[in-house]
Parts: sequence; structure tokens; C-alpha cells
Amino acid sequence: PYKGLPYDDLTTIRRTNLNPALTTYYSKPLALHQGYKQWLFDIDGRRYLDMFAGVCTVSVGHCHPKITRAVSEQMEILGHATNIYYHTKIHEYAMKLSETLPGSLKCIYFVNSGSEANDLALLMARSYTGRFDVISLKNCYHGMTYQMMSLTSNNHYKYPVPGSAGFFKTLNPDVYNGIWGGNKCRDSPVQTDRICSCTGECEAGLKYIEQFENELNYQISKNGLAAFWAESIQGVGGAVQYPKNYIRRVHDIVKNQGGLFVADEVQTGFGRTGDHFWGFEAHGIVPDIVTMAKGIGNGYPLAAVATTPAIASGLAKAGHFNTFGGNPIACTVGITVLEIIGEEKLQANCKEVGTYLLLALLHLKSKFPIIGDVRGKGLMIGVELVEDSKTRKPLNPEKFLKIWEHCRDLGLIIGKGGLFGNVIRIKPPMCVTKEDADFTVDVIEHALIRQG
Ligand code: PMP
Repeated sequence: PYKGLPYDDLTTIRRTNLNPALTTYYSKPLALHQGYKQWLFDIDGRRYLDMFAGVCTVSVGHCHPKITRAVSEQMEILGHATNIYYHTKIHEYAMKLSETLPGSLKCIYFVNSGSEANDLALLMARSYTGRFDVISLKNCYHGMTYQMMSLTSNNHYKYPVPGSAGFFKTLNPDVYNGIWGGNKCRDSPVQTDRICSCTGECEAGLKYIEQFENELNYQISKNGLAAFWAESIQGVGGAVQYPKNYIRRVHDIVKNQGGLFVADEVQTGFGRTGDHFWGFEAHGIVPDIVTMAKGIGNGYPLAAVATTPAIASGLAKAGHFNTFGGNPIACTVGITVLEIIGEEKLQANCKEVGTYLLLALLHLKSKFPIIGDVRGKGLMIGVELVEDSKTRKPLNPEKFLKIWEHCRDLGLIIGKGGLFGNVIRIKPPMCVTKEDADFTVDVIEHALIRQG
């Protein structure tokens, strides 16, 4: 039973004592008490199917008993050891995590959040290359430290203060909303009906590459590019996928010019996209730096950066220290998450249930013109709602919110995102079943019918 503060007190304290910029989901905010696998329970004991996983964070399921056991055992032995000492857990975990990565990505730095991981990757890229400028994609999200606010491209996350220097953006190669399309090239079991004139190589992709090369010529200093950054599928941006070969070609251009490729796997890592353990593998590249967070710790504050020994040596010019990075509890969580993903075959489940859900949502799209696009891979899914499927004008936010709130009333938690807030984001704990997928589609259908 719930023994916490009454609902009204939570409202008052949130207004008075908490960060006023906090986003709070739902007109009557959800007050959570418990979680178990793919389920959440509020303080009145009402159950919800969690198809958003705390923003794509709970990977192996809420309160997984194996993690609870492992953590409490570790807490009884040693709760904190800074990494200035030897401790078996940080060593075991660094070795196991590096085994999931290709090539010479064998050197791991442990930090505590995705923003911190990307911030460290920036320092690493600049120290190693001796260059300053970086490019990211419009509509990307890489975090909220002061530096990362400049790498991120969405004004909802930008304060009216001067940004940091050396950050440039290139056109987002978005196959649904971008100016050149490219839907048919998308690396997804789901395709939409916009015809792309590709003959083998994706023409839209090539135009976006040309645009990227323009940015290099016009924006980047003679010193050259330090790094290019991309999520393997954009998360906060609304499950945006790129034309086939785009990432591989950009990767090759960046490498030819002596820059580094940074893959942000904060949302797409750890098997979520189904076909691969890491999202970048679908693009056929091996990045120079990989940043990871969220699913790595199943909700525990744990994040990491992986790179090659050569790049890591660039960062050895000064001491690098992080009090909590790689603490025994965090590493115990990380090791156990890896074990569970393997034992419960969660990557294969992402592929099977994710594809089933994508196809069911595509069928729903054929019945409701308000659904402009269904996209994604594995259990990283976006459903874009529009006013008109021809013009693709984003659905009016009030209408969107009604649909989304109605889903919650029926016991379904889904996310929202995209630049215009009109994309339903579905990224559940990776243990969801086909029955959960059916429930999700039924509830969304009910909400769409009610919306008229
Ligand atoms: N990168 C991506 C792709 C993300 O989605 C996020 C968080 N939404 C971050 C980085 C930042 O992670 P954190 O909130 O842990 O700082």
C-alpha cells in the first residue's frame, strides 16, 4: 500500500519546491507508486501498461527481481568506491560492455547521464583531433548540459543565453517531413506511400549528403571538423529515420577529412531496435565514439562512453575524474542488465513484438487519415498525427493532447515528441508481449474514434 504524501500535497510541493521548468505529463498528473515489468501502478493502485518506459529508459522491465537481488547483495558488501581504487565490478563491467562493441571500441568511461556522456565525448573529440567545430542534425537531442544545449537542435530545450561556439547543424534527412522525402529507402519493416524516385541509391539521401558537404565548405573552419554526431534513430525528435546509406556516406566523408563519428546510442542501444544490439550497426558503420545511457541502467543513473585506445589517449593529457562514475552499485546494475537481455532474449523480443506492433499500427493508419506516418524499428516506434495526410500539417496540439490523455484514461502510457509535439512515441520496456501490442493499438484506435 502507498504510504507517501497525499496527491494534493504533491501538487503543492511541486509548485513550491521543485524546478518550475519541469515538464509534467497530463492535465491531472500521474502520481506513480509502483512498477513491475511493463506495468506501472499509481498511488490509488490503478494499473497502466507502460509503453514509454520513463522516456525509453526502463529496458529489462520495472523492478526486475534479478536486479533488485544483485543490488541489495552488493549494497551489503560495498556501496561506494571511487574509481581511484580497484574494485571488481567496474573491471568486470568494462570488459563485458566492451565485448558488445565492434572494432577497437574497447575503452570505457563511466558517467551518470546521457548529457554527461555526450559532453565527455565532445571533450574527447576536440582533444584528440585538435579541432573545434562539430556538426549535428537538425531535430536532434543530445542532452541538457550547457554545451549539449548547443549540440541539440530543438528550441524547446534552448534558453535565451549565448550558446557555445563551434556547433553547426545540417538539414535533417527526415524521410517524412524533410524536403526531399525518401520514404521507400527507409530501413524499417514499415514503408509509407510517398513515392521516392530512387534507383538503387537513394536520391533523397544523396541530396542530403550534398547539403552536408555544403555545410562543411561554408561553415567549418579551415582547421577541419572535429566530429559529426547522430542518434541512430532520432528519439526526442519523434522516431525519425534517415534515408538508406545516408549515415554510412556521412561517416565516410567525415573520416576522410580526419574527423570523428560519434554515435549517440542513448535510446537506440542495448537491443531495442531488434536487428542489432547497437543502432549504428544497421547503418553499416563502426563509430569512433559511442555514447550510451537510459536503457544501460534500466532506470538507474548510469551512462558510458566507449572509444578506441588511441582516442582515449587524447584525453589522458589531463586527469579525468568522476566521483560516481562506475561505482559498484551502478556497475552491478549494468552487468545484470546485460545478463537479463541475453537470458530473456530481449533483443529478439524487440524485433518480434516491435515488427508486430509496427504492422498493426500501419493497418490502423489505413483506417485513420489522421495518422500521417508510422515508423521505427524494433521497440522504437513513432506514430505521427497530422491535420491532413496530403499536406502533412502537424495535428493541432489540443487535438493531439485529447487523444493522448484519453489513452491514459484507458490505462495506456505513451510518449509524445517531435518538433511539433504531434508524434506518439512508443518505446516500452523490452519485455512487452504481443498482447500488450494489441492492447496498445486497441486503445489508440478507441482514442482516435472518440476524437472524431
Ligand atoms: N541523447 C539522447 C538521444 C537522449 O534521448 C537523451 C535524453 N532524452 C540524452 C542524450 C540525454 O540524456 P540524459 O537525460 O540522461 O542526460
